[in-house]
Amino acid sequence: MLDVRDLTTTYGAVRALDGVTFTAPQGRITAVLGANGAGKTTLLRTLSGLVPAASGSARLGDTDLLTTPAEEMTRAGLAHVPEGRGVIAQLTVEENLRLGALGARGGGRKADLDRVTDLFPVLGERRHQVAHTLSGGERQMLVIARALLADPAILLLDEPSLGLAPRIVTQIFDLLRGLVDDDGLTVVLVEQNARSALSISDVGLVLDLGKVVVHDDAAVLVDDATLRHAYLGF
Ligand code: ATP
Repeated sequence: MLDVRDLTTTYGAVRALDGVTFTAPQGRITAVLGANGAGKTTLLRTLSGLVPAASGSARLGDTDLLTTPAEEMTRAGLAHVPEGRGVIAQLTVEENLRLGALGARGGGRKADLDRVTDLFPVLGERRHQVAHTLSGGERQMLVIARALLADPAILLLDEPSLGLAPRIVTQIFDLLRGLVDDDGLTVVLVEQNARSALSISDVGLVLDLGKVVVHDDAAVLVDDATLRHAYLGF
């Protein structure tokens, strides 16, 4: 379980996170929602050690995330897929996948590569193709597959739906749901598209100006018209 308490992150005078407290239960999807600038990306970047917290705590099981260097996060069981599909454009699909397995907790065997290409058959079909020739949806699948090769306990995903056709978003979200249900993976999913995110999530966390406005079951958020109109845009 991810346990975050009173987490504050500042950029100069900006309090991007201001006393954020929540838990993300193991084997569940927690959607992190909120308007532009609410602090969603900063939350993921703070949890994965890319920006320092000003105060508070964040623990993943026995690991203190705030004192774990970013380069040791993979070994600690945390994988972060940032916004923007950072594949290495000149390498093939398979080479990108092999990079994801570096430093993994037991990942990187042929069986692991076979498993992700079972999950994402299109990546198997295109394993020798250079990554810059993939479509946006295929690239998003590649970065998720690469993160899974590190065998994470928790996967932090930043806006995986950005710029993708609805059909591809549904496909990726269904896959995530399957990984959570079948493998007990824990997911923290940052999304602008609140309606789709809540449809596959167990829990929703709404941020506004760096503070938690609501933290409740996804179904409770979907049923609350006032909250939906005020913060979720649907
Ligand atoms: P979006 O949905 O637009 O991606 P977000 O909820 O992910 O927004 P953040 O990117 O975490 O929000 O930004 C939170 C606040 O921190 C914003 O006011 C933003 O301008 C500010 N901020 C983010 N990164 C930096 C930075 N590197 N330097 C200064 N301010 C920053």
